[in-house]
Amino acid sequence: MVEMKFLGGCRTIGGSAISISSDNKNILLDYGMMMGKPPKFPSIVSPKDLNFIVLSHCHADHSCGLPLLYSGTATPKLLTTPPTIDLARLIIFDTIKISKYFLPYEKQEVIQMIKNTQTFGYNKVKIKNGISLTFYNAGHIPGSIITLLEIDGKRILYTGDFNLSQTRLVNNAHIDFPNLDYVIIESTYALEEHPDRLQTEKDFFQDVKQIVENDGIVLVPAFGVSRSQEILLVLTKYNIKYPIHLDGMARTASLIIRDHPAFMKDFDFYKSALKKGKLISFHRKKRKERLAAMSKPGVIIAPSGMLQGGTAVMYLESLANNENNGIFLVSYQVPESPGRLLLDNGYFVSKEDHEKIMVDAKLNNYNFSSHADKNQLWKFVENLDLNPDAKIFCIHGEENACTEFTKKINEELEIEAYAPKTDEIY
Ligand SMILES: [Zn+2]
Ligand SMILES: [Zn+2]
Repeated sequence: MVEMKFLGGCRTIGGSAISISSDNKNILLDYGMMMGKPPKFPSIVSPKDLNFIVLSHCHADHSCGLPLLYSGTATPKLLTTPPTIDLARLIIFDTIKISKYFLPYEKQEVIQMIKNTQTFGYNKVKIKNGISLTFYNAGHIPGSIITLLEIDGKRILYTGDFNLSQTRLVNNAHIDFPNLDYVIIESTYALEEHPDRLQTEKDFFQDVKQIVENDGIVLVPAFGVSRSQEILLVLTKYNIKYPIHLDGMARTASLIIRDHPAFMKDFDFYKSALKKGKLISFHRKKRKERLAAMSKPGVIIAPSGMLQGGTAVMYLESLANNENNGIFLVSYQVPESPGRLLLDNGYFVSKEDHEKIMVDAKLNNYNFSSHADKNQLWKFVENLDLNPDAKIFCIHGEENACTEFTKKINEELEIEAYAPKTDEIY
């Protein structure tokens, strides 16, 4: 009998973790972190009992709890894709730097984790401890996977975070999975529709063009991994004639992604975009380069996407008081985040003196989401190839999104569906 225990990411977004066990087999899917001071982690698991761990992608809500499992003598194998481990390393080290005193682990555990990592590409069946597993492209960010497991004759699909529409950076998710028994699906946008992607690109480009042609500078605060590169590709696609600068983690992540051509939609286009983009260096020249970037019309892409920190905040302080400039947000802004406050009230709070600073630059927000939306999630579920008695588990979404999605699957498709709570076992 296969048993699933939901350890985190239940009726919320953050700290995703699922344990799957059967007889003597025991595996873990993701082990993330819930942001906050202090950050929170999924329910405790014993690393020595694990055959292996699968990491769906590098984002903190899936990866940043993993080092906790490498602090002792047990060293379970971590299975993932090559870009995911490289990007996870970047994200986890950055998390350590930012939340030093709040994190219950240090670099040493991360190094131990990397030592025990084994990487695979897409679409190849692997047998590990008698469990068959295959990674498929999830279309979310480079290296992200949908995992198909076969354990004791049961076929289990874990979508991780996935996207069914094309982006400039990665191809859309694989969707063909025969004879499934259990499906664990993300529900982030189960209640929301995304605007048309191409229209969003065009609007964004037009607005950027207007600013730079008017001698302004556009700051695009963006998450360093994936969203920053997506914005670079969009601007390159529309043939922008002005310089594009990438700073901080956006720069480092761009170079890591470049090392993994097989996980990208169009490597040649990516390479040419990266050549066009100007990477702000890390060391002694960086101050000079930053001043140069802010001295003439162009675009600056810098983390963090919600203005909670990172180099974007430094640029914001310099660029905010000029009405010719633009601050264009391209990520979801969680309530109470500095980015949300800026959009709603037109000000930000200075890091140095904690004063409210009103922003004269033009403000806007664009939906470049890398998750499936309401319609796509529904289409995906409707088209699933399920065995009799199959069950669907809706996780990784706000309470309402998970429960409403579950209810709709139950009622309209007559499939047994659940929105598990933390520590529930099925
Ligand atoms: Zn993600
Ligand atoms: Zn996630």
